[in-house]
Amino acid sequence: MGARILELGRLPGTRVRGTKMKVTVNEECIGCGLCESTAADVFEINDDGVAEVIVDDASDFEDDVQEAIDNCPVSAIEAE
Ligand code: SF4
Repeated sequence: MGARILELGRLPGTRVRGTKMKVTVNEECIGCGLCESTAADVFEINDDGVAEVIVDDASDFEDDVQEAIDNCPVSAIEAE
């Protein structure tokens, strides 16, 4: 009998589970660092002092990315 691992605490939102989540940061970024603090697995402040996305697929961090999107002071984060 195969064991099933249930992932708790991450209920699906509007996106279908298993689909890729592409996140980008546009040129409006002021490098405040909030997204990096919120989702350190996804964002990093680069040598130019602005945020960059360090994963190709952020679907495993959807809740944290959404929080970063909601709180970015200049609305520089986009996800699809
Ligand atoms: S929260 Fe927004 S402005 Fe701040 S570093 Fe991230 S993308 Fe840039």
